[in-house]
Amino acid sequence: MKVELARHYGFCFGVKRAIKIAEGSKNASTIGPLIHNNEEIDRLKKDYNVDTLHALDEVDFDKKAIIRTHGIPKNDLKFLKEKDVAVIDATCPFVTKPQQICEEMNKEDYDIVIFGDKNHPEVKGVASYAGKRVFVALSVDEIKNINFSNKIAVVSQTTRKLDEFLQITNYLIARYKEVRVFNTICNATFDNQDAAKELAKKSDIMVVIGGKNSSNTKQLYNICKEFCNDSFLIENEKEIDFSWFKNKKLCGVTAGASTPDWIIQKVIGKINKI
Ligand code: SF4
Repeated sequence: MKVELARHYGFCFGVKRAIKIAEGSKNASTIGPLIHNNEEIDRLKKDYNVDTLHALDEVDFDKKAIIRTHGIPKNDLKFLKEKDVAVIDATCPFVTKPQQICEEMNKEDYDIVIFGDKNHPEVKGVASYAGKRVFVALSVDEIKNINFSNKIAVVSQTTRKLDEFLQITNYLIARYKEVRVFNTICNATFDNQDAAKELAKKSDIMVVIGGKNSSNTKQLYNICKEFCNDSFLIENEKEIDFSWFKNKKLCGVTAGASTPDWIIQKVIGKINKI
């Protein structure tokens, strides 16, 4: 049996970068979990003494504070700096970009529309750079009754779908004189999904590695199941059942965006033994 990894799988660029930063920071705290994977959080604690805090006011002011890939609101950053906390910024550059755009567009007096979920930490952070005339919406319905000025700038939460972003931008373009659209969508999640689909189509069995409570991993599993009936979702190598692989010629492997590489390698190692 051949084992093949999907073209894109596991951590995105931003998460890999944040983990490297955390490993290099030692004795620091992250405000909120760095990724949604408990084994990885435990590893960072054990090997690098990186703690996970739940709120800003838990920050130990003698320690370093790592900002997650989602970024934080401008005022939270100010709070940390005023308290002289050493801030280590692991905000993903794809998130810093819409923050900068909002700051710039606000200076130029644009109304700003953010296509995204207003409760998501990334969106809260981006919106904090946009001044007072900022509107966060997930659908055209939510902006229909807003009286915009004639200068509008639009950005998107990084993980949103392009076709849904276009619905909002098309609506605005048709009605206002000047609409500046910044495509700030990051393709990492979709790259993993497309690659899983491509591999599932030709595989006899698909192994999807990731947290059973991770929505991103579940989405990957559902895609695989659609194209390869023998698809299995596992959290680690201990869950592998040898009987799954009987008479199979090609085993495809993919992993959710919060699955560390060392877990993926352990799973592949065990499958290879079979
Ligand atoms: S913006 Fe993209 S690359 Fe950055 S952390 Fe989010 S998913 Fe990963």
